[in-house]
Amino acid sequence: MCDEDGQDYEGRYRQYIKENWLPVMDSRAYTCGFCGREVSSHIGLQRHDRWVTADSLSSGALNERLIEVRTCPQCWAATTFGAKEQYPKPLLGDSFDARDKSDDVKLIVALYNDARTALSQGALVYLRQLHP
Ligand SMILES: [Zn+2]
Repeated sequence: MCDEDGQDYEGRYRQYIKENWLPVMDSRAYTCGFCGREVSSHIGLQRHDRWVTADSLSSGALNERLIEVRTCPQCWAATTFGAKEQYPKPLLGDSFDARDKSDDVKLIVALYNDARTALSQGALVYLRQLHP
């Protein structure tokens, strides 16, 4: 069944249920890796996976993992949470407003912000000092 805008929301929801994704039932406080704000989100999906490996087969122990995807109530970007990790991570360092600064300062702040974003997304960043 499609809505007037052509989206099959019921079909998508059934697919989420089929793949063990369920709506979250509580709020989660975190620092958004996109906008940098401290937020509390109650919108998202979670999935609880259980599996057996060759090593755990003899003991009968189950491996378990809870994954959540939360939507930031400020910028609406999605953040993924594992057992102890968050992706993207909160931005490192302070933010700077360079709007009323010189072009040189604006360039340095832009590079700094690119490095902050890359680090929050797990990318390795190699910064080199430029000499004239
Ligand atoms: Zn955000």
